[in-house]
Amino acid sequence: MDASAFEQIVGKEHARAGGGAVDGVLVALEVRPGSAEEVGAVLRRAGELGAAVLPRGGGTKLGWANPLAPAGDLLILDLTRLDAPLDLQPDEGIAHLGAGVRLATLTAAAAAIGQTSLLSPLRDGDTVGGSIAADPVGLDWQLDRRLRADLLGLEVVLASGEVTRCGGSVVKNVTGFDLVRLYCGSLGSLGAITRATVRLHPLPERSELRRRDADSLAGALELAGSLLGSGAAPAGAVVQPARAGPGASLIWRVEGREPAVERALDRFPGDPADASLWEAARELRANPPVDGVSVRLAGRPTDLGAACAALAQRGGSLRLALPLAGVVLGQLPGDGLAPLVADAATAGLALAVERAPLELRRSIDAFGPPPGGLALMRGLKQRFDPGRLLAPGRVAGRI
Ligand SMILES: Cc1cc2nc3c(=O)[nH]c(=O)nc-3n(C[C@H](O)[C@H](O)[C@H](O)COP(=O)(O)OP(=O)(O)OC[C@H]3O[C@@H](n4cnc5c(N)ncnc54)[C@H](O)[C@@H]3O)c2cc1C
Repeated sequence: MDASAFEQIVGKEHARAGGGAVDGVLVALEVRPGSAEEVGAVLRRAGELGAAVLPRGGGTKLGWANPLAPAGDLLILDLTRLDAPLDLQPDEGIAHLGAGVRLATLTAAAAAIGQTSLLSPLRDGDTVGGSIAADPVGLDWQLDRRLRADLLGLEVVLASGEVTRCGGSVVKNVTGFDLVRLYCGSLGSLGAITRATVRLHPLPERSELRRRDADSLAGALELAGSLLGSGAAPAGAVVQPARAGPGASLIWRVEGREPAVERALDRFPGDPADASLWEAARELRANPPVDGVSVRLAGRPTDLGAACAALAQRGGSLRLALPLAGVVLGQLPGDGLAPLVADAATAGLALAVERAPLELRRSIDAFGPPPGGLALMRGLKQRFDPGRLLAPGRVAGRI
């Protein structure tokens, strides 16, 4: 692909040929636009040339989801130059952010004014836009405490090059369809996110980490069930198998105002735990082992035992369970994946492959059997991106 067509838009220094491969597909060109309008012009030009475009933030999750299936040359749309605004408004409880703002930068800037957000960094370099597009499941994830719940507004450039806005700056911000949530988790397949408005929260007055150990995984899962039913309202919780032996630990965080934290500690007591334990769990979450297949099984919080059993039956093992989210993260030998996909569907568990060798990712949909609304999803993709310009093949159903 001729770089000069894009150099005219972004400047010579921000377009370069080559740059490795994604999912075994060679990258023809990397382009780094400096504004939403430039993003639009790049997308229009790429469409005219019949190229496929993969938006990229920090590039930490490009190996997630289904492999890319471009019909033409692959262009990487690097959005890291969009690192403004970084406009924090604690009085309003909101932040306006460029898609290229690094989560580490945001978190440090927010902490300096006594605030925090759900966009907490996990990997070096991860960005606001990439995190919204990937909608990752973190240790603090809860049914009512997810990134998408804190997303108020987005600016998104469509495949046609049109710069669009949805949502706003206030909590009741949607009239009509809630497009903000549609883009969250869309993996770059519906548009390039160029700006976001998210909620800020005051840093908690007090935060405590507690643990309880059990002789078995089943015992630790039972403890997790008791924690959920105790009224302690934890801010995060993990069940982690012991490094050696059959035991497992429940580790949880309570935070908030002083009296609320005291009450929570009374309702479900545990031993004080070192912060390094939480960090180790985070690390395990961020960097699954490179061997075999990393999977995520999700159900109701009461389904954790069934999900762990399904994993074990196919030769897999638990890495971490997230009781507040009903999520189990496991590691599995490659030949256990196909049967696990079938087992999960029968048990009503949602399965996603987070990391697997490319050959396996080509042979199995990373999101399991086709979801119920697949025909509607295809219709949406067709409407948003009729030329299949953006991230072709990546989302569920390989659309
Ligand atoms: C609440 C939360 C929890 C997290 N939990 C985990 C976790 O448990 N485990 C973990 O490993 N990481 C976790 N992270 C970190 C995070 O998953 C990634 O590092 C981050 O989501 C990817 O950011 P990135 O900029 O590197 O995206 P990239 O890897 O560059 O892109 C990820 C996907 O988004 C698309 N994309 C990127 N930028 C854009 C854009 N501007 N517009 C449209 N599409 C785009 C890409 O095409 C790709 O499909 C968490 C982050 C948050 C905010």
